[in-house]
Amino acid sequence: MHGIGVSPGISIGPAFVIRKTLKAVSGIIIEGVEMKTIEINKFDHAVEASVCEIEGMKKEGETELPKTLVDILDTQIEFLTDPQIRTDVIEKIEKENKTCTDAVIEVIDAAAAIFENIEDEYLRARGSDIKDIGNRILRNLNPAEGPDFREFPENSIIISEDITPSDTISFDVSRIAGFATKAGSRTSHSAIIAKSRGIPAVVGCGDDLMNISNKTIVLIDGTTGEVIINPDSKIIEAFRSRQKEEREANAMLEKLKELPAITTDGNKITLLGNITGSADLEKLFASGGEGVGLFRTEMLFLGRDSLPGEEEQFNFYREVAEKSGNRPVIIRTLDIGGDKNLPYLNIPFENNPFMGYRAIRFCLSEKEIFMTQLRAILRASAFGNLRIMFPMICNIEEIRLAKQFVQQAKKELLESKKMFNDEIEIGIMIEIPSAALIADQLAMEVNFFSIGTNDLCQYTLAVDRMNERVSSLYNHFDPAVLRLIHFTIREAGKNKIDVGLCGEMASDPLAAVLLIGMGLDHFSMGASSIPAIKNIIRKTDKSKATEIWNRVKEMDNSEAITEYLKTLQA
Ligand code: PEP
Ligand code: MG
Repeated sequence: MHGIGVSPGISIGPAFVIRKTLKAVSGIIIEGVEMKTIEINKFDHAVEASVCEIEGMKKEGETELPKTLVDILDTQIEFLTDPQIRTDVIEKIEKENKTCTDAVIEVIDAAAAIFENIEDEYLRARGSDIKDIGNRILRNLNPAEGPDFREFPENSIIISEDITPSDTISFDVSRIAGFATKAGSRTSHSAIIAKSRGIPAVVGCGDDLMNISNKTIVLIDGTTGEVIINPDSKIIEAFRSRQKEEREANAMLEKLKELPAITTDGNKITLLGNITGSADLEKLFASGGEGVGLFRTEMLFLGRDSLPGEEEQFNFYREVAEKSGNRPVIIRTLDIGGDKNLPYLNIPFENNPFMGYRAIRFCLSEKEIFMTQLRAILRASAFGNLRIMFPMICNIEEIRLAKQFVQQAKKELLESKKMFNDEIEIGIMIEIPSAALIADQLAMEVNFFSIGTNDLCQYTLAVDRMNERVSSLYNHFDPAVLRLIHFTIREAGKNKIDVGLCGEMASDPLAAVLLIGMGLDHFSMGASSIPAIKNIIRKTDKSKATEIWNRVKEMDNSEAITEYLKTLQA
């Protein structure tokens, strides 16, 4: 079976299958007031036990759970204790003579169906969250019937329809060997979390995945996306030796941790990490990350039903700033829209959401939301070395306007006597071709650039980054993409501003030499990729890398470029 490898590593272990589909109704009829009262009491106790379990999860992770994930758990509790759910269940018991179990299945099914029929991908996913909650109640109604999600055996491979952010909180990472899911894409937030926590993961495996039964031995390769069921001893042996090689290579790379990312001819390159909250920092610094090159703040806004206020945001950002000490932290303002929809904002349906009302476009219109975030970031800047970055800038007016908002936020903070770093640096993502093409003009407006190749590829090549059918066209070695990256780096250099790259290309070992040759100052990537890229940098001579880029520049197709870069690694 094949899926999308989203978090590298090879794992072999027994499957622990989590079915989010509810079990079938039994059709048993109950009669008499007494029986019905017993069933209603059973429901109340099961809900109470479920709430206790979730409260327990919150307590267990008290010190490390990011606020956003605590909010997800709170939303689950809210749903569990929703009076409408109780009323509906009781009505089925009292008026339709159903057992409590059947009543719960029907009520939860109906609630989930409302979400599952919605076109929006994010809202549809909420349907499986509701079933998840339903399954928790059912487990507490009939404890003998289902395993507790958290009681999976050591070294299990979690198999599930999808993994919600709240699932990833309850994983005791040290006991999980990996996970494979039926649905999901490279940019789904569960994939981002898996990567930042170093759990091998394969998503989007398709329907057949759910035919795997509990305890079946499963092998997953989070790099290639392979999922092998009941592998024979030969296959296991081959993968074990690959796993061993990977571990040895990682142990070798681990030794580079304290060494600088410096080319053989003495050019220092800065290696930074992509994070979604303070929980990712420990792994980042342990991998040798020198700071944060992309703090995706969206995570705080996802998986909840209202916007986080200024205090909540301030605390979330301050935690990252404080834990990072003097290290730089590039914090990106809200980049929602596209695949990252916030249902509670009720943004009208769009035919082309990736080219629509998103990121900075949204923020410049929704002034209060933007100002709230800017005040929170500025206040947090008093506690560390924060820099502000705006996503999806497409012309010069947008950055000028965004800077006026920063000025206004500073003025308000001065008036309310709140501390902030008045010298805070401001930068932009270069991820739309129009921005890359005017990099010379934009460079005069900002302190730094960060090239977002995930979107830059998508918009330059007109290839939806989520659409598997056109994925063969999506290639960061396409000459058009490389020209835009090079122009951006060159113009940043001329204007003496810092330029980094924070898209997935930064973690591609083949791309590293090319980017050094173009003159990139910093790379930002998921923590687990840092050691391998540092290793390449330390073996690269910058002047040679420049010659390599000069040669690649003359090539007219991505295949030839890739083949040439591969020969350099051999
Ligand atoms: C990018 O577009 O390259 C990027 C880093 O941003 P995101 O993946 O969050 O869109
Ligand atoms: Mg982007």
